[in-house]
Amino acid sequence: MAYTQFIDGELTSGAQRESWINYNPATNLPLGEAFHANAQDIDATVASAEKAFHTWRAKTGAERGRVLVKTAEILRSRIEQIALLETQDVGKPIAESLAVDVSSAADALEYFGGIAASIHGDYVDLKNAFGYTRPEPLGVCAGIGAWNYPIQIAAWKAAPALACGNAMIFKPSELTPVSALELAKAFMDAGAPAGLFNVVQGDGRVGAMLVDHPQIAKVSLTGSVATGKKIYAGAAPLLKRVTLELGGKSPLIVFDDADITNAVSAALLANFYTQGEVCSNGTRVFVQRKILNAFLAQLKERTEKIRVGDPADPDTHMGAVISAAHLEKVMSFIDAGKAAGATLLTGGDKPVKDFKGRDISAGNFITPAIFTNCDDAMEICREEIFGPVLSILVFDEEEEVIQRANNSVYGLAAGVFTNDIKRGHRVIHQLQAGTCWINNYNITPIELPFGGNKQSGMGRENSLAAIQYYTQLKSVYVELGNVDAPY
Ligand code: NAD
Repeated sequence: MAYTQFIDGELTSGAQRESWINYNPATNLPLGEAFHANAQDIDATVASAEKAFHTWRAKTGAERGRVLVKTAEILRSRIEQIALLETQDVGKPIAESLAVDVSSAADALEYFGGIAASIHGDYVDLKNAFGYTRPEPLGVCAGIGAWNYPIQIAAWKAAPALACGNAMIFKPSELTPVSALELAKAFMDAGAPAGLFNVVQGDGRVGAMLVDHPQIAKVSLTGSVATGKKIYAGAAPLLKRVTLELGGKSPLIVFDDADITNAVSAALLANFYTQGEVCSNGTRVFVQRKILNAFLAQLKERTEKIRVGDPADPDTHMGAVISAAHLEKVMSFIDAGKAAGATLLTGGDKPVKDFKGRDISAGNFITPAIFTNCDDAMEICREEIFGPVLSILVFDEEEEVIQRANNSVYGLAAGVFTNDIKRGHRVIHQLQAGTCWINNYNITPIELPFGGNKQSGMGRENSLAAIQYYTQLKSVYVELGNVDAPY
């Protein structure tokens, strides 16, 4: 396969472009060749998006919404094909790509398609006058994605941007160039004007060209804190708007009155879904001392039953991490945890056979790891590992755990397990995090805002809240009397 740019409604030539090989993380065999956008491609994609923007913004919200809803229907009708492409590209289990990745992309398109006709300003009654506001589109917006949820990230950015009347140029991660092209095709098949959703391929250099381009009004990134800081700085000279969805090291707090089975289920979901490569993961699991042993016994037993193996097998629970280099990075965190004195309760090795006895030694597999005897200062408890590594931290008092949970530069997410309704809310209200759960974890319905506080980012995706990040408000004063001039 060749993964080229998708500009003005069609795939472009890869000729005379720098290229790289895209690998399947489960086998490390090539899936295809991807072609880096050059400066001419960037100019062509911006010109095409500007043209589409002028056609698109002139449509009514209802007309725009219809195209988004149709795109969602097309994605759902192609779900098996796209989910398989995503699984091969990312290494995640097919059960996940079917149930979550493609579906949540379609959910976003349906949701923002549904509200596109209702995006409106306010009317203000004034003395002998009135005023009103218009939420107007920004223009051409750039979306830059991470590799863990490629089509979901593309749709979470494109759906609100397009619903508000903008055009979008999307750059997927260089590690996952595949599914954004499927989204682009679905938009075209749904009747979107050519250029409304373009895709450019490449690494951070292409991302930086988008950030620098004077005709791009806004940049929305999903990626690491380090990249977020570069984009924020890069957007500053032209005072471009930015939305930054960045990394985290989120706390999941389990009080001793919690339902232990539910809390263990949440801890597993919060650490091992998508091989632990989820930004909002609750990787610091704080457990109140009284229930520590019961919690650990169940956590260990259920973790050891996680079926690691071929991501294309519907029975697989956990696939391969994104790249051989990322596997080494995760393994080096595990080594650091051991060296710092934490106890590796289970996992953390590279399996040779999968749960059905198949040879998986060529892929980037790792068994889910649990560390106990951790302390807050250890590297594994401070840094985002972005792999299947869970750290257990023990606590005694509510005040203590709140202070320890907040002792992080990150503030993406947090969870609390308790059967005391007052404590649940009291604790959550004091946690410095943008996205929180009481008695569950990592559930991200399209109806609720998603995003981070502190260094985990700024702006919000999903829900009605996303509209303000893809529009600019115009205030209009209308005089009903005479102009009162002192001259
Ligand atoms: P990354 O920061 O390395 O790359 C993200 C994207 O930014 C890629 O497309 C990359 O090519 C691009 N990029 C890199 N340098 C750039 C530059 N100077 N200018 C413009 N673009 C540039 O992140 P990653 O390794 O792809 O993804 C993992 C990270 O993403 C983790 O930190 C994870 O927590 C975070 N993430 C956050 C969310 C969220 O919603 N908060 C969701 C998923 C992933």
